[in-house]
Amino acid sequence: MAEPKKKSTGSSKPEDEAQGIPPLDQLLPKEELESLSTLQIIDLIASKLPPRHTSLFDLIYLRDRIVALEEMTDQARQVVEKLDAIVEKLRSPAFRIGTYLAPVEPDKAHVCVGGTDYVCRVDPQIPLASLQSGQRVLCNEAFAVVQGLGFDRNGPIVRIDELLSDGRLRIGQESGLSALVVQRSALLAKEKLKSGMEIRLDLNQRVALEVLGMGRRTERLLEHVTDLPWASIGGQDEAVQAIRDTIEMPFLHRDLFKRFEHTVPKGFLLHGPPGCGKTLLGKATAYNLRQQIKTRSGVDHPEFFLHVKGPEILNMWVGESERQVRDLFAQCRERAADGALAFLFIDEAESILGTRRSGRFNSILSTLVPMFCTEMDGLEPLQNVVVILASNRADLIDPAILRPGRIDRKIRVKRPDKAGAQGIYEIYLKESLPLAEPRADLAKAVTEAHFARSNENQFLEIIYRSGKKDFLYRGDLASGAIIAAVVERAKSFAIKRSIATGLETKLTRDDLLQALQREHDENDLFPPTDVTEDWLKLTDFDPENVIKLGPVRPRKTDVAGGGII
Ligand code: ADP
Repeated sequence: MAEPKKKSTGSSKPEDEAQGIPPLDQLLPKEELESLSTLQIIDLIASKLPPRHTSLFDLIYLRDRIVALEEMTDQARQVVEKLDAIVEKLRSPAFRIGTYLAPVEPDKAHVCVGGTDYVCRVDPQIPLASLQSGQRVLCNEAFAVVQGLGFDRNGPIVRIDELLSDGRLRIGQESGLSALVVQRSALLAKEKLKSGMEIRLDLNQRVALEVLGMGRRTERLLEHVTDLPWASIGGQDEAVQAIRDTIEMPFLHRDLFKRFEHTVPKGFLLHGPPGCGKTLLGKATAYNLRQQIKTRSGVDHPEFFLHVKGPEILNMWVGESERQVRDLFAQCRERAADGALAFLFIDEAESILGTRRSGRFNSILSTLVPMFCTEMDGLEPLQNVVVILASNRADLIDPAILRPGRIDRKIRVKRPDKAGAQGIYEIYLKESLPLAEPRADLAKAVTEAHFARSNENQFLEIIYRSGKKDFLYRGDLASGAIIAAVVERAKSFAIKRSIATGLETKLTRDDLLQALQREHDENDLFPPTDVTEDWLKLTDFDPENVIKLGPVRPRKTDVAGGGII
């Protein structure tokens, strides 16, 4: 700063001139002066000084200092502003994530946040058309949609109960507490959905997002129907005829039935002791109906055979059993609509469709029976859905189920008599097997042994209400299942002999007789408990007339505590 001072010590003329400068407040009005920045004021003073005035250098020096200072202040302000913004962001509340459901024209959106519905404004930078139903969106504090996110990757898994006509889905809750109706997300808009499928919902449980599979339950219940011509069932001619009259005739002669306005059943009940072919008859119905329709019309309707065991449907969750039954019907209807021949076969039907007094699950039965009736009433006859019930205790089935228009045909599946048993033996002793004798001879021999009225064959003691006592012989308790098991066992004897001797052996009369003896000794097919009701299930007896029923000798497995009930 020495230099300007040195210069100011020159001639006195410039100082005089400087003295002639009026003060600033005289140069400009006060307001104008106040609106000027420090630099502008310096520039103003400098402009008033004569050229080369010594103070000019001081002013330039001062100006540079001020410029540097202002720059520093500017930078500091910017840093403070950035910090302010960061603090502001950290302090602001979190955004909410919602599920976008639908547009609300022209510029708003229907969004579900935390289970509550909102109509939200949408940031104009986000075109409404770019949002897809079911995707997640970010909502700010004012619940305005400020960003679109992708689809949820998590969410509850549920099963479709029913497809509603407008594309929405009725779903059941696994807990059975309530059912919901949800819409499809954009991802599933065109997907071919079916009831019974497992799907994933968004976290708000409003939209179906993903199909996870058919659901294990249905796959487990679905049964493959093998080739089962009527001839493969022995000793059930009456039952077979009744089924053909009940189901095959109306399906094959629709016009005739219509012309006579003859009511067409939607299904039938097969009742009789276990192991006598109820399930077999059910499947044979499916197989033969398909074949008959194919032969007559040339159209092949694949079977869809759901095999349900009644007790499996009973569930401790309130409403879950009903949901399952509804689900089964819905699936059959859908498959039928797709061109299949749908069969719903309910085994041990008395356990879910019994009179209220019959079951332990009274509260469940009281809702299941009316629900089943409603589903039955909703079925159109001949719409390719056939319901078959099977039961060992038809007397326990609620009469409401068996009214006309529902399951009004009861078909008895009896134990095979001697002739029937021989027929079944012949079915299993196939001509193609290595038999030691003609198959009719073998079948006759083993049937004679099976049905002999010998002491050996005495099996059950029965006491009637009248006081009369009687015995049941093994032949009285013959069943297709036992006969099939005897033949299988005889085959295994022949195979073992062949392995032991290294010779080509044949199935002999002796193999069969031994197998019969073993089968009887093991009593595999009989219930382990000594409860009259269980034993009655095995017989054709009317429970009203029997007061006592039990094995003649203690069964092998039950020697210690057994005896007649
Ligand atoms: P249910 O349903 O009456 O308890 P199933 O139909 O399940 O009896 O029969 C069990 C098995 O016994 C069948 O798979 C079949 O091998 C054999 N069976 C039963 N009844 C007959 C029959 N009448 N003719 C041929 N085989 C039979």
